[in-house]
Order: sequence, then structure tokens, then C-alpha cells
Amino acid sequence: MAILKMAHLVVHAIVAILISSLAVTAVSAQAVYKWRLAMSWPEGTPMLHNAAARFASNVEKMTGGRMRIIVDAPGRHKAPLGVFDMVRSGAYEMGHTASYYYKGKDPATTFFTTTPFGMTPTEMNAWYYYGGGLALLHKVYSRHNIVAFPAGNTHIQMGGWFRKEINSLNDLKGLKMRIPGHAGEVVEKVGMKPVSIPPGELYTALERGTIDAVEWAGPANDEKMGFQKIAPYYYTGWHEPGAELHVFVNKDKFDSLPEDLQAIIATSAKEVSFDILSESFFRNATVWAEMKYQRNINIRTFPPDVLNAFKKANSELLDQVAAKSPFAKKVIGSQQKFLGLVKEWSAITDQEYLQLR
Ligand code: CA
Repeated sequence: MAILKMAHLVVHAIVAILISSLAVTAVSAQAVYKWRLAMSWPEGTPMLHNAAARFASNVEKMTGGRMRIIVDAPGRHKAPLGVFDMVRSGAYEMGHTASYYYKGKDPATTFFTTTPFGMTPTEMNAWYYYGGGLALLHKVYSRHNIVAFPAGNTHIQMGGWFRKEINSLNDLKGLKMRIPGHAGEVVEKVGMKPVSIPPGELYTALERGTIDAVEWAGPANDEKMGFQKIAPYYYTGWHEPGAELHVFVNKDKFDSLPEDLQAIIATSAKEVSFDILSESFFRNATVWAEMKYQRNINIRTFPPDVLNAFKKANSELLDQVAAKSPFAKKVIGSQQKFLGLVKEWSAITDQEYLQLR
């Protein structure tokens, strides 16, 4: 009886060893991907750096270590506005950046971040995930060997810090401002001079008077940059009513991945998208609750003649871009059609409610 029991145990042990060695073989047969991600944001940028880092660590955890992503800041890759090229060429497998930095590469990419006087974050998400936006994003980026995913809406951005108060359209003439994307062209059309400066050099440019105004994001990010110390007028936003950031993946590399890893990347990007929106709202609101007591900060809304001029220039420029690029025309057309469809719903819900609260 004892011998029988012993034999039984031995068989069990052998089976267990066989199973575990099979499992080891199965795991080791699966490729381990060591990828690198170039982000546009300086190390430690609130929300943005965290989001890229969490995206990478989520992917690693969800793949059980089959995919590891090293996140590089511009201090390392030296090209904060070159993420598009680095991912397209495969120099980096991935990126975390804003699509509208690349309007020079392809005008259609601009509006995937935001459109002045366009959609709010709620409307933007509805457009991306249910209104055809995501399919258009993939279509435009596949022409550049990139798979792009929405990965973080920074909520409605502030209109920027100005060294002098703006009382009329005349006060804007000749002012040099850091303002990227389509909005840069809008301000140019009304007489300002938009400039593109990497994030890490903005404070010095404003301090030295190389620029007169700067838009960056909202109180949480802006306060870290220190703009409030040198430009006392803080304007409410019109130009980025919900700027969306993106994860870029080199398309050849993405297509070569097993389907489960592709799904994990897509899902992690979506998680980051939700999280940046939540964190942006939380941090901007709570930082502002403190900042508003600083005596040197004056909150302003642009006067009506300025806003009307921005609106007119914006719509003329959208028509011009659409006439030049068939893909931009598709994106602009899709957004305008969608906004036309949902605008009234926003008006009788968000707008009404915020007024009565
Ligand atoms: Ca901005």
C-alpha cells in the first residue's frame, strides 16, 4: 500500500515537472520586445511625462514582461518636435506627442489634436470613438508608416500669458507668440507673429522678450513653467478646446506584433487618454484654486473684436487648408459635420447646466 502510494506521488511529481517545463518552453518561445518611446515633453512635465511612463509600465505589466518600453525625454533624443520622423523611420518604435506639431509634414494631422472654436473633450471623444475620427486618424497616419492612437486630452486650454493687456485687435499687431498648430496661422492672419519654440526654451524666450506671449496648456503645467512670474495677463481659451495627445507606433513594427500585443497597446493608449483628461481637469482646477489668489495674475477674456477676428480668420483658413489637402478636407469635413450634429445636444445639456449650477 505504502509502495503504491509512493509510486503515485512520483508519477504526480513527474507530471508536474513535465507541465512546468512545457510552460517554460512556451514562455521562452514567445518573443520579448524591447522598444523605445520618444516623448515630446521634458522630464517631469506634469500629466504628460507621467502618462507616457504609465503607458509603458501598463504595457509591460499586461504583457507579463513580453514588451518593455523605455521612455526617452528630449534631454536624450534631442528632438522634441521630431517624434513623427523618428517613429516613421523606426529610429524609435513609439512616441508620445501632439499630432498638430506635424502640420508641416501633413496638414491633415493638425486637426487630430484640436481645432480652434471646435469640439470640447466630450465631443472629441465621441467623434474619435463613435463618430469616425479614429478610422480617419489611422487612414491619415498609415500614409506615413505610423499607427496613431488618441492618448490624452488636456481639456480646454487657456489662451495664454501676455506681458501686456489686450484691449483691442490693435494691441495684438506685431506681437510674437508661441502658439502651435492651426491657431498659429489664425493669429498670424490677424497680425501677430506665431513662433514655434521647444517647450524647454519657452520660459527664457518669454523672459528675454524674444516672445511677448505664450500659450502652453493650463494652470498646472503653466505654473511649473513659471510664466506667471513674467507675464501677468492670463487669457481664457478659444484655440484648443480640448487638445488630444497621441501615442505613435511605427506601422511596420506594429503590424509585425502578435494580435494580443496590438490590443494591449491600443487599450493602454485609451487608458492614458482617459487618465490624462481626468488628471488634467483635477490638477488644473486645484492649482488654479491656489493660483487665483496671487496678486500679479490677472484673468482676462479676449475682447469681442479680437474673438470675432479669430473666428473669421479660423474659418477662412480651414477652407484654404481643405482646398489644398484632400485628406485635411476629409478631417475638417468630418469634424464639422459631427459638431453640427451634436452641438445642440451640448447646448441643452453642458451649457444649460453650467449656467444654472
Ligand atoms: Ca497648448
